[in-house]
Amino acid sequence: MDEFLDGLNPQQKCAVTSASSVVQVLAPPGSGKTKTLTARVAYLISKQGYKPWNIIVCTFTIKAAREMKERIRSLVGDKLEAKLHLGTFHSVARRYLVTYGHYIGIDKNFGIADSSDTIAILKRIIKRRAYQTEPSVARSRISRCKAQSEDVKPAKTTEQQEFESLFEEYEETLATSNLLDYDDLLLRCADLLRQRPACVSNVEAVLIDEFQDTNHVQYDLMTLFAQSKSHITIVGDPDQSIYGFRSAEVKNLKRMQIRYPDTQVILLEENYRSSGAILASAIEVIEQDEARPKKPVSATHGPGVCPVLRKLPSAQAEASWIVAEIERARTCTGDLLNHSDFAILLRSASLSRLIESAMGKAGVPYRMVGGHKFFDRHEIKVILNYLRVTSQPDNNDAVAQVINVPSRKIGEVTVKGLLEEAEEKKCSLWSLVLGAAQGKLKPKTKISTQAMKGMETFANLILTAQKKMSASDQEDFSVFDLVWLVLKRLSFEDYLKRSYPEDIETRWANVRELIMLAGDCSTQRTDDPSDEALPPIEGVEQRQVSDAEDSLAKFLANVALSTEVRNDEENQSHKVTISTIHAAKGLEWPVVFIPATYEGSIPHSRADDDDEERRLLYVGMTRAQALLYLSCPSRESSGSESKLSHFLSSRTMSRYFDIKGPSIGFSVTQDLARILRRTCPTDAIIQTRKNSLSRHDDDYFSYDGEETNPENSTWDQTGARHASRQTNGGFKRRKVE
Ligand code: ATP
Ligand code: MG
Repeated sequence: MDEFLDGLNPQQKCAVTSASSVVQVLAPPGSGKTKTLTARVAYLISKQGYKPWNIIVCTFTIKAAREMKERIRSLVGDKLEAKLHLGTFHSVARRYLVTYGHYIGIDKNFGIADSSDTIAILKRIIKRRAYQTEPSVARSRISRCKAQSEDVKPAKTTEQQEFESLFEEYEETLATSNLLDYDDLLLRCADLLRQRPACVSNVEAVLIDEFQDTNHVQYDLMTLFAQSKSHITIVGDPDQSIYGFRSAEVKNLKRMQIRYPDTQVILLEENYRSSGAILASAIEVIEQDEARPKKPVSATHGPGVCPVLRKLPSAQAEASWIVAEIERARTCTGDLLNHSDFAILLRSASLSRLIESAMGKAGVPYRMVGGHKFFDRHEIKVILNYLRVTSQPDNNDAVAQVINVPSRKIGEVTVKGLLEEAEEKKCSLWSLVLGAAQGKLKPKTKISTQAMKGMETFANLILTAQKKMSASDQEDFSVFDLVWLVLKRLSFEDYLKRSYPEDIETRWANVRELIMLAGDCSTQRTDDPSDEALPPIEGVEQRQVSDAEDSLAKFLANVALSTEVRNDEENQSHKVTISTIHAAKGLEWPVVFIPATYEGSIPHSRADDDDEERRLLYVGMTRAQALLYLSCPSRESSGSESKLSHFLSSRTMSRYFDIKGPSIGFSVTQDLARILRRTCPTDAIIQTRKNSLSRHDDDYFSYDGEETNPENSTWDQTGARHASRQTNGGFKRRKVE
């Protein structure tokens, strides 16, 4: 039997081997959609003779892309997998623009404006024009207009006129800085493929995961990628549509069926991920939406342990409880679980602060996903901005941010003056600085002799870096070498010592981490696996870039498109994941915590679609394989009283939860082992551990005794703080700070 069909159920096999050219697999969470999509790629390559470099696979997150690439590699081997175009829509689009952008006038050195860049640009415009709007609100609105390919409505009110000019000025700034924002990457790629269909004439198959979250432009891209052969496979689940706020359109599913009338729709109904009890509670949540058509789903695992719904007196107590439960579950299950088996999934990234601090105090290793924290640190931003100026000198923001770091006696007023002068003259700040430094032009802005010297030093460094990166005889010069060159020329460690003596160790450790990432990139272990060169196509001219330039641009694109905080791979395997629910889409963990399940958090107070919030909770709950913990503090961190989310507060709902905490013991361990398909630690080990822990277990349940009846449970129970007092220190891990 073929390896990629091993263990698949009949519907999954049918999808993998379908002879239809357009296939939709629609199925609930954990039913093996991604597994099926992966197997189909392997099937097309090894059985149907498709060439990997003619296949495009789009996933939603870089993490998903990486995991899928691993799975495909194990199915078809290194050699065949190597040239597959598998990545996020954004990274695949970027690759097309790098290679063929000259056909639509896109410079090969274009940079990507990430969220912090776009906010910085908007802030500047808003300040200059004294507009009355928040940069983040303006950004979402601009993105919505772009994603829906909507024209800005004819301006009527002052507010609309302001938005129209803001939009215009924002676009102009991106253009002069040679930047594309996230939406532009997709839109411009669609423009390119409309104008030059030949660029995708080689594409034999397009496969898309998480299709329910595609927006209008991504849908267009799918049809454009597939324009020569119309061979498309998509997998998705309308119940998991959680990006409506970013213009995702579930109706793309119907639209696709209308456009391709021969679409074969395959439904999967068995859940392989979660225990029966977890699945039942999640289904109860999603079925609260009465307008939603009922769909059959069955669990392939036994009922397992009942999910926990826990009320805690405060957000601090909740954080301590989570940390204590992680350690308790680990200890009680022998060596079955390690830290990387746990995930804490949040409605908003801002909820992570208390949890991170509790984890830090208890020494529990964790990694934060779904934020830009690492790349936003000052010491990292400075180095990255030097790399950006090297690669994309027209990026005015990048130049303005580092021209005087470390200090070169170029004052803020001078930088601001030069920036405004550049904007006025419609030239780049870099060309102004370079011209002045080389004595070829005289800026209007007043520049002191010292500042002029500083500008010369800055320009020299950038010119040297650019020369090294572009020289074809410097094949050995890599991103790694470039980072070292910058560090050395800036005496960066001394600069950090001088400026931040109190936390130099941490900052230098971050720099080392960046050096390591650059090293990975130089040896082709890049974060985003999609970034393979496109195959040559007769009659279409590909842009040539040197290897070094290409790897620098790739490195910077990875940073801009990554929503992950990177840490070294080895250590990642022993860390608890803290993530937003959005970024956890498609993934699974043995144990999942969803804290802060109160009204205002989920559903979020600023969200206007209650159904989408419910689906978000459903997505979060269905990430859990064996243990699911939901919790809610009776007071928010702000101190105001909270109310349990209405998705969870009904009487029917309470039947699905245990409010005292799971009795982690021998039988749970066996259950866990079965669900996780892992070897259960031997009876002897478990028995010994169980004996040594039984006192703690008893303590744990005795303090919770009065809440065992859900009907009696009250909001003012004293929770973890009470527990630590009652057990007289007997259960240290539950102690509240
Ligand atoms: P989501 O909607 O959350 O993205 P999904 O439908 O893509 O979920 P997968 O991630 O592909 O589901 O599969 C969920 C889990 O079930 C994985 O661990 C996968 O290996 C397992 N699985 C899927 N199909 C089978 C099968 N036929 N036999 C055993 N395990 C399976
Ligand atoms: Mg999936």
